[in-house]
Amino acid sequence: MLSERMLSLGLQSSVIRDIFEYGLKRKKEIGNNNVFDFSLGNPSVPPPKEVNQILMHLIETIPAEKLHGYTSGPGGQCVRSAVADYIKNSFDFAATSDLIYLTCGAAAGLAISLNALTTEQDEVIILAPFFPEYRVFIEHTGANPVIVQSKTDDFKPDFELLAEAITEKTKAVIINSPNNPTGTCYTKETIQELADLLNKKQAEFNQVIYLLSDGPYQELVYDIELPFIPDYYDNTIIIYSFSKSLSLAGERIGYIFVSPKTKNANKVFASICGAGRSLGYVCAPSLFQFLIKECIGLTADLSVYKKNRDLLYNGLINLGFEAIYPDGAFYLFVKSPFKNAKKFCEKAKEYELLLVPSDSFGTQGFVRIAYCVSTEQIINSLPAFNKLAKELNLL
Ligand code: PLP
Repeated sequence: MLSERMLSLGLQSSVIRDIFEYGLKRKKEIGNNNVFDFSLGNPSVPPPKEVNQILMHLIETIPAEKLHGYTSGPGGQCVRSAVADYIKNSFDFAATSDLIYLTCGAAAGLAISLNALTTEQDEVIILAPFFPEYRVFIEHTGANPVIVQSKTDDFKPDFELLAEAITEKTKAVIINSPNNPTGTCYTKETIQELADLLNKKQAEFNQVIYLLSDGPYQELVYDIELPFIPDYYDNTIIIYSFSKSLSLAGERIGYIFVSPKTKNANKVFASICGAGRSLGYVCAPSLFQFLIKECIGLTADLSVYKKNRDLLYNGLINLGFEAIYPDGAFYLFVKSPFKNAKKFCEKAKEYELLLVPSDSFGTQGFVRIAYCVSTEQIINSLPAFNKLAKELNLL
């Protein structure tokens, strides 16, 4: 007898992956340049040149048994110290290496943290639209996801709805700023309001409510400054990944940082170590741990995404589409001219434009365009969007 839950998860296909697979097939039929695939959040910009240089240097200078061997479960001590120093220097925040756990990207960071914090029947609040895997990770722990819709004009939290959703069962709230799929960023005013609400609810229910800040797009902000969340709320756990900032998505490297201001921070960290152990997520990829130690703080050339954002946003607005202005990440959230976003995606497909319906992210009536593609693809896709807009009488 297999696990029914795992079987059904394994058999479910992902809408995003299906669209991507369709794009591959279609490219074979009509040529790569004739299909405008905006489905996946896979960085198109190469890692900075230092990444290859450092990798070569590591391979030449560190003995193989050390470079490719096991590290401590939470990561090599020197790497954890480098991450702590980086946080200290960048955010003027007293981070310590004993509260840092190296992970296989943000996905593992989320899975580990949720397993560490929750027990059956707890509730974890997620703000829609959200990264679809949140639901999978929460349900795996036996806790229940509670979905709270964000405001559809700017996709900031709807604090009234959020306040109603927090109960004595609430163990954690997950936020993701810059956001996938909307590109929305939370300013310090938004984070302050969130912190005030959570502090009030903690006092009301006499219990800790953790704030999980899922931040793989931390550096992908274009015109605004992001607040450092542990400055605003004590019980914060940061989940970070180098997938997007360094274009290392396939190398699976990131970290969890428990704010030292978290109640019983050392115990929370011990629970994170336990969850990592029970999930088999110990000792993140060693070569890339060494790499991170050397190049933490560097980024790929993120200006390409800003250029793409401007071209795509302005191009689509001029064609009569409505979209949320994204301050960060590399996604544009466009209002579907039909009530049913899937119908809009099908129509766009007729013009070889591959977009993702927002239903996948827990919100109706929008589509996500991942603009982490070449600038050439953005420019070449605009005539297709133009034809689509004409057919839909938007112009
Ligand atoms: N969280 C969000 C919001 C994401 O968009 C992604 C990946 O796209 C992840 C987490 C997982 O990232 P990683 O590749 O670091 O596991």
